[in-house]
Amino acid sequence: MLEIVGLEKKFGDTQVLRNIDLRVREGELVFVIGPSGSGKSTMLRCCNRLEEPTSGAILIDGMDIVGCNTRALNRMRLKVGMVFQGFHLYSHMNAVRNVMLAQVKALGRSRDEARERALEMLDRVGLRHRAEAMPSELSGGQQQRVAIARALALDPKVMLFDEPTSALDPELVGSVLAVMKDLKASGMTMLVVSHEMGFAREAADRVVFMDGGVVVEEGAPEAIFSNPQAERTRAFLARVR
Ligand code: ATP
Ligand code: MG
Repeated sequence: MLEIVGLEKKFGDTQVLRNIDLRVREGELVFVIGPSGSGKSTMLRCCNRLEEPTSGAILIDGMDIVGCNTRALNRMRLKVGMVFQGFHLYSHMNAVRNVMLAQVKALGRSRDEARERALEMLDRVGLRHRAEAMPSELSGGQQQRVAIARALALDPKVMLFDEPTSALDPELVGSVLAVMKDLKASGMTMLVVSHEMGFAREAADRVVFMDGGVVVEEGAPEAIFSNPQAERTRAFLARVR
């Protein structure tokens, strides 16, 4: 479904990602951990070319998005839903209009069709009743769920999450993780960067530990958390626990 092959990324002379190989199979949830600056966000951003890979391939459904033309890229980008730490909702639009916008602009859906789909997705994240609320009237957790609904409304093949709960007050984290667990249960393919180790234990198929721009090790959550092989993984886990 999503395959990262030999991915390298340099910013000027600084090499930030080195020979990253990572595969997320259909319906799998792969969870990425690692210290600040290890390249987690850069890797995610390369997956829809928000960041231009220096070399390597990013295959989505078997098609390489590195080096494809703008038209093909725009089509491929729609298959990759992305949710960030900050929710980036349009503050002057209510929830349902936020979820409608890209459907109309990028997919060419009619307003009626987009609205219907938006309400369906808001229902899925438990916010059907807040469809007309402005972002400022919603909690951070609710705003993040609107952002998830917005991504889902474009019918992505894979969802990327970059620290989706890091900006939230602790009591709001659970509602967002619950939506993510639901997504996983419904068969969505997901690549998640997060510090929520409890969530990883419950929902992840595999955990990947990155440090210094490389994948140091990967394995089942139990194996990585209880019996890490690499010294760097042990040191990191000891720090974050
Ligand atoms: P965090 O846990 O803090 O979010 P991260 O693992 O997501 O960290 P990245 O944001 O991917 O790390 O950054 C990896 C490295 O790349 C860092 O050293 C960072 O300073 C550098 N970097 C990221 N974006 C740029 C950029 N646009 N220009 C130059 N260097 C960058
Ligand atoms: Mg980051």
